[in-house]
Amino acid sequence: MAETLRGELEKFQASLLERAQAFQRANTFELGTLDEVIAHFRDRGGFVWVQWCGDDAEEARVKTDAGGVTIRTIDDDAKPTGKCFVCGKPATLRVALAKAY
Ligand SMILES: [Zn+2]
Repeated sequence: MAETLRGELEKFQASLLERAQAFQRANTFELGTLDEVIAHFRDRGGFVWVQWCGDDAEEARVKTDAGGVTIRTIDDDAKPTGKCFVCGKPATLRVALAKAY
């Protein structure tokens, strides 16, 4: 009985985790330019990962141009190799953007 229950619990937890991961995948995007970010948040939400140079002035510009989009998370493990999504200079950070409602 205890074994059956444990098995059921494990199955239940696995399916919860799967759903959470699927939801996260469906709501996480990887974009390359500010235009794409603005277009994305015009009709969608979720998290958008971009590569960024770290310039504070650009953060303010993104917030204004994309209608309240702010940086939520910095990927500490990332070693960006691409270009900044705003200015095109070499990126130093990988960050996730999301819109405040
Ligand atoms: Zn930049």
